[in-house]
Amino acid sequence: MNQYQVAFISLGCAKNLVNTEQMAALVRAAGHTIVPDPEGADVCVLNTCGFIDSAKREAIDHILELARLKEEGKLGRILVAGCLSQRYREDIRAELPEVDGMLGTGSYTEVVSAIEELMAGQQPERFGDISRTYEDGERLVSTVPWSAYLKIAEGCDNYCAFCIIPFLRGRYRSRSMESLLSEARALSDRGVKELIVIAQDITRYGMDLERRPMLAELLRELCKLDFHWIRLHYLYPDLITDELIDVMAENDKILNYLDIPIQHCNDRILRTMSRRGTKEQIVSLFAKLRARLPGLVLRTSLICGLPGEGEAEFEELCDFLEAQRIERAGVFQFSPEEGTRAYDMPDQVEPEVAQRRVELVVDIQSRIMDAWNEQRLGETLEVLCEGFDAEMDCFAGRSYADSVDIDGRVYFTAAGEVPPGTFVRVRITDTVDGDLMGEFEEEVAL
Ligand code: SF4
Repeated sequence: MNQYQVAFISLGCAKNLVNTEQMAALVRAAGHTIVPDPEGADVCVLNTCGFIDSAKREAIDHILELARLKEEGKLGRILVAGCLSQRYREDIRAELPEVDGMLGTGSYTEVVSAIEELMAGQQPERFGDISRTYEDGERLVSTVPWSAYLKIAEGCDNYCAFCIIPFLRGRYRSRSMESLLSEARALSDRGVKELIVIAQDITRYGMDLERRPMLAELLRELCKLDFHWIRLHYLYPDLITDELIDVMAENDKILNYLDIPIQHCNDRILRTMSRRGTKEQIVSLFAKLRARLPGLVLRTSLICGLPGEGEAEFEELCDFLEAQRIERAGVFQFSPEEGTRAYDMPDQVEPEVAQRRVELVVDIQSRIMDAWNEQRLGETLEVLCEGFDAEMDCFAGRSYADSVDIDGRVYFTAAGEVPPGTFVRVRITDTVDGDLMGEFEEEVAL
């Protein structure tokens, strides 16, 4: 069998990255070599995101860059996988002839045969069932040795009116507890200390298996393994049960950092968006969480300019944010996505107005984040060191309040060497542009 050099580029979210890692493991198991750079590779697999307009543009820019390499004779073939190919298969075929093959989100595990067909001069296109289950495959984990993602489910059943994901990723499918625990055990054996539990909606874990939420049970089992931090991403507010809060409160390993996308707070807008729950329920949930989880850092996602959002609803959102003091927020301008119900809803907001609202919310949130940072002065935080930052001329890491790639960092000085992946205590002495600065106190004994 011929052996090929295969490069992978993963765009979009961590959930997509896990699919890329699964594809890379399959390609390596088939005897091919994974190379870091598309330049010089036989095939580059571009695993794309097509979630919103900006992600689409990023994916197309990557395709054009790969096309240039191909034209210069520095790359053999281009295989596009993921959400963009799932969503725009016809357009890619018609308008991007440089793309040699495509895999839909239900067919990424067919990557090996697709590569072999590509190299035989064919143009494979595989678009299998997007709701199929693939849960036990190996992964070629590409993150730093001390942190890894654990994707506990695929797809989404929430069908928020603005979101294309359920149409690209299929129905919600929880992975079995056995498969997850065996993968988590393998990660822990390899030295992973920070496990980041992800899915489009982790609170729904188990509903499709046993018609009951099973996240609390899963977390109890994960806490028995040798992780130091367990971080949770994407909890839908309505299924944050008392049992789940108890598990989080009882286990120090589960960080008091929760990513709970709420999108908005106005009841009418929430209903229009088919979001379950009301502002009152969100407020009381946040109060309950803050009472049970000391020092809780909340992260959320917000959309400005949703259809029907007038000045009054927007002001309500601003007042809500000022009152709730949510420490971290991703703020997005509504992007009308073809194929979603919100695409042609009445009362669309002018893009310029939506953009101005985004800027106003970003301002509010920056002030909240700065105030939170100021309150840390003089405190000692546990920090996961990620290495020496030459530009800042000191070590850099993250505290419980900072997730990978999306939040701030803690920069700190130390007299001696602090190996990456070490947990240390850092006394906070300053704040700089949304980040914290401090001094090493001692290493944390794990
Ligand atoms: S919960 Fe809503 S916004 Fe999140 S992936 Fe599912 S449908 Fe999209």
